[in-house]
Amino acid sequence: MLKILSCFADILFPRRCVLCDAPLGFKTLHVCRKCRPKLKFIEEPWCLKCGKAMADASKPYCRDCSRVNHYYTKGFAPFLYRGVMRESVVRFKYYGRGEYASFYAKAILAFGKDRLEKWRIDAVVPVPVHRQRLYKRGYNQAALAAKALSGLTGIPVDEKLVVRRVKTKAQKELDVSERRRNLFEAFALTKDSCPYERVLIVDDIYTSGSTVDAVARLLKEAGAAEVYFACICIGGEDC
Ligand SMILES: [Zn+2]
Ligand SMILES: [Zn+2]
Repeated sequence: MLKILSCFADILFPRRCVLCDAPLGFKTLHVCRKCRPKLKFIEEPWCLKCGKAMADASKPYCRDCSRVNHYYTKGFAPFLYRGVMRESVVRFKYYGRGEYASFYAKAILAFGKDRLEKWRIDAVVPVPVHRQRLYKRGYNQAALAAKALSGLTGIPVDEKLVVRRVKTKAQKELDVSERRRNLFEAFALTKDSCPYERVLIVDDIYTSGSTVDAVARLLKEAGAAEVYFACICIGGEDC
């Protein structure tokens, strides 16, 4: 019965290729045949802190992580924020393709399973969006990815622990230090302390790391011992 219903759902609302957005046939799960060769995980060498792909294998950390003291412990993303993956995440974020979340969560898990197991995460916390933005967009893309990851791993997701309290200026308009200041003020905890020892922050894109850092700082100040992150895409070393 469920199978029949899901077939009807596929006719009415066909699933789409995560990379090119073409409707998929019944048997194809996330990526069409044409796009499969374009699907590539980030390859080593990568930064031991943020997971960015690096050109120089002789150093342990990327340019950014050698310069900045991040609040988070470590993190990673399976894909480079370029080309078809960049377009995919833009559709996911702004054009109603929330359904991609299930593919992204599978990719995060396939790519980072060893690390996630090693980190022994107690809870997954998505980066929140401001209430007004949530109302306009209808969903928080980071929360969709976090929930899908929670469904695959069994690690509980806590969507309510962190909220976005002010509508910050668009990060694009600011330089790096302004971005950090702007963001540290943007998040707040809804509890007096963090009820988890080891937290995984989930977000869509990691570029300078300032968003993840702002949430990590908050959680650590509230008592979390270790804060890690997993994003869908990460910028190159030149970000
Ligand atoms: Zn495709
Ligand atoms: Zn790094």
